[in-house]
Amino acid sequence: MSEKKPDFGVEPPINEPIDILGWWIEDLHYGYRQMLKIDKLLYDSKTDTQRLMVFENETFGRVLTLDNILQTTERDEFMYHEMLAHVPILAHGAVHSVLIIGGGDGGMLKQVVKHKAIARIVQVEIDPEVIEFSKKYLPMLSDGAFDDPRFELVISDGAKYAAESEDRFDVIIVDSTDPVGPGKALFTEEFYRNVSRLLADGGVIVTQNGIPFTQADEVVNTMAEFSKLFVDYTCYTSTVPGYAGGQMCYGWGTNDPSLREVPLEVLERRYAAEQLQTQYYTPEVHIASFALPKYIKDLFQSPEDRALR
Ligand code: SAM
Repeated sequence: MSEKKPDFGVEPPINEPIDILGWWIEDLHYGYRQMLKIDKLLYDSKTDTQRLMVFENETFGRVLTLDNILQTTERDEFMYHEMLAHVPILAHGAVHSVLIIGGGDGGMLKQVVKHKAIARIVQVEIDPEVIEFSKKYLPMLSDGAFDDPRFELVISDGAKYAAESEDRFDVIIVDSTDPVGPGKALFTEEFYRNVSRLLADGGVIVTQNGIPFTQADEVVNTMAEFSKLFVDYTCYTSTVPGYAGGQMCYGWGTNDPSLREVPLEVLERRYAAEQLQTQYYTPEVHIASFALPKYIKDLFQSPEDRALR
């Protein structure tokens, strides 16, 4: 037990993605890997920012990986994108503008454009090649959303945009990679402080916050920062098979605590009014997703409090 755990916040996992038998291997945590068979390799190349791969797998369909970390898959993407998009938008109820940071595959944008009342959608993506390449190899993810007239694309580091922009948004969705490589900048105190400035009054920010069973530090750090910035902060969850290790956590921060108290009937009315077609999201799931197991709730305590347990 004297062996040291790897610090995934510092170095990317060490394995090469394709082994000799044609399996893609992802190092999830110390002594814990997942393997997906590469039925057909469609793309494998290094952009200026990161390594990009797409392959086909019998169970997951097309699979996108960046720097050898699974980003999204054709068959389970809805479980992630619907929950990160529809929960804040329907909780808010009067969203005019949305900012997406990251999300180059277009899966988040596809969900956001379903809301006809939204007038403006800005997406800040660091790597233009992810977008171009996803349009070509994963067109089902964006499903034409990049052509929506309300959509504005900014190619930039989301951390830089957050520091410099004067825009305001009702909903901000951070659809980032894990805190490795370019994604690291989207988990810092500075980024959270800057991006919280971009929220309009009554706005809400949601973030990709990893799998708490294996990536507890992500929840611990984000919640510690959110506690300094927002009146109401928490996580909510969904389960996404490709993100192995249990429930996936989404950070939630707002200065309007009533957004988390919206009654079921109101959510049902908003959902029906938008005529949303969803496969995972329902108003009941929305409310239930905020009920956290104790091991996740315990991560909200300060490091000192946790040491005392
Ligand atoms: N759902 C995914 C997950 O859980 O890992 C995230 C998918 S999405 C493909 C992540 C996107 O974030 C990528 O397109 C990547 O290029 C982008 N990204 C990473 N770091 C960024 C940064 N600092 N600013 C803007 N976009 C960034």
